[in-house]
Amino acid sequence: MLRRALWLGLRRGLLGRELGTRRGGSTLGKVEGSGGYHGSGMPPMSSHVTFRTWDPWPRSEDSGSLEEGISYLPELVQSGQVYGSRGCPSQYSQASTVLSVGGIRQQFSLPENIQLSLFSAEFLRNINEYLAVVDDPPLDLQFNPSGYLFLASEKGAATMENNVKVQRQEGAKVCLMSPEQLRKKFPWINTEGVALASYGLENEGWFDPWCLLQGLRRKVQSMGVLFCQGEVTRFVSSSTHMETISGEEVTLKRIHEVQVKMDCSQEYQPVECAIVVNAAGAWSGQIAELAGVGKGLPGTLQGTKLPVEPRKRYVYLWHCPQGPGLEAPLVADLSGVYFRREGLGNNYLGGCSPAEEEEPDPGNLEVDHDFFQEKVWPPLAWRVPAFETLKVQRAWAGYYDYNTFDQNGVVGPHPLIVNMYFATGFSGHGLQQAPAVGRAVAEMVLEGHFQTINLSPFLFTRFYLGEKALEHCIL
Ligand SMILES: Cc1cc2nc3c(=O)[nH]c(=O)nc-3n(C[C@H](O)[C@H](O)[C@H](O)COP(=O)(O)OP(=O)(O)OC[C@H]3O[C@@H](n4cnc5c(N)ncnc54)[C@H](O)[C@@H]3O)c2cc1C
Repeated sequence: MLRRALWLGLRRGLLGRELGTRRGGSTLGKVEGSGGYHGSGMPPMSSHVTFRTWDPWPRSEDSGSLEEGISYLPELVQSGQVYGSRGCPSQYSQASTVLSVGGIRQQFSLPENIQLSLFSAEFLRNINEYLAVVDDPPLDLQFNPSGYLFLASEKGAATMENNVKVQRQEGAKVCLMSPEQLRKKFPWINTEGVALASYGLENEGWFDPWCLLQGLRRKVQSMGVLFCQGEVTRFVSSSTHMETISGEEVTLKRIHEVQVKMDCSQEYQPVECAIVVNAAGAWSGQIAELAGVGKGLPGTLQGTKLPVEPRKRYVYLWHCPQGPGLEAPLVADLSGVYFRREGLGNNYLGGCSPAEEEEPDPGNLEVDHDFFQEKVWPPLAWRVPAFETLKVQRAWAGYYDYNTFDQNGVVGPHPLIVNMYFATGFSGHGLQQAPAVGRAVAEMVLEGHFQTINLSPFLFTRFYLGEKALEHCIL
């Protein structure tokens, strides 16, 4: 019965938030703006909540870095992409956004993922209309619309055909190619073992993630959002015990204050809040736990964790004078290896996700160079023989915000912590979905339901209900 109530209630975006509002006697404040990457949703928002204990400039001898970071806001407390601050070693240097490879595609199998990326593509194409700031120069996103090329074996061909059918139904421009067509268009590809390929004709390619981040940051700052940098260490909340119509007991919580340890300072800043958006990427599982998510009996909603954890992924950059030319798309081989051009000088970058049983230790961001030699280079040079002579120039590692349940985003409210929302768990496709997910979270916060894209399959409750949002096209 609780399951059914959740399903119905949450589909309408109601349970928890309305219950909490009635019981707690307080109302949800409107959001003033957004501080992190995924919280930067349109349309512009206005504030109805006043600052109280919030002091944007804590008095300390050592507060010089405050203007440099993003992290939380008085009305909307938000963990999200931030970056190194002046003179301070920063916890944020490991953020995924700036370590990603900047790809956007509509070649997914789930309609929701296709729709998210279609909106984001439109957003990116018109970025200077969305993010223009008076007197500031226009953004140069360096969007490279070269498309994605997915390759499939005999075994994967039928799935690819189905995926492309869905993609086209949703409005994406994707074509199927036979091995012969592939050889003609991209003669540098060895088509052995390839039965079918799908190629994005529009709205796919890659862009500069740093530029998008800067653009969002600049825009929200111009709208009055305050940025500062620190680590969320504690949530202060109140609880209400409720009984469902089926007689199950649940505890509803409302967060009133977030404790933030300021960077480069001994200060802890208490921040009163109406809304908390957990957009802490690979660390959002930890943040959720800090707020009490998953602290209950196994098998209950109270005991359901946010299944998001850091998974280390390597990116290698190589030079190859004989490599594919400017027409090269981002190629996703059937082996799982991918690559794309980087700039115009015969440089390329790529990698592949390790097998589940070979996941590297996420405790640090050291690069495993043997992984390239053993797992990446052999299939790469098989598919593109010119890559036999490549020379690796550098490499880095970053964390996927990996959703171990179904490798898809978690978007929307927590059913029991009535003012915590999620924008996380994107497992390697979160950058491209950021503009659309920002909008979806804003809709949920302001209207209580998704308005433009129905992201119900991505709600937190699916972890409790055991309903996976299965996506076939994960890289
Ligand atoms: C190698 C690699 C390649 C990728 N390629 C692509 C791609 O081609 N296309 C694509 O769409 N996506 C890609 N991704 C995924 C994408 O980068 C992420 O999904 C996206 O950047 C997540 O953004 P975010 O703002 O949620 O997280 P992040 O950018 O990681 O930001 C989270 C922030 O939360 C902060 N934080 C954590 N804990 C706390 C705390 N306690 N208090 C305060 N702040 C905290 C962190 O310091 C961090 O700054 C890739 C990822 C990697 C690692």
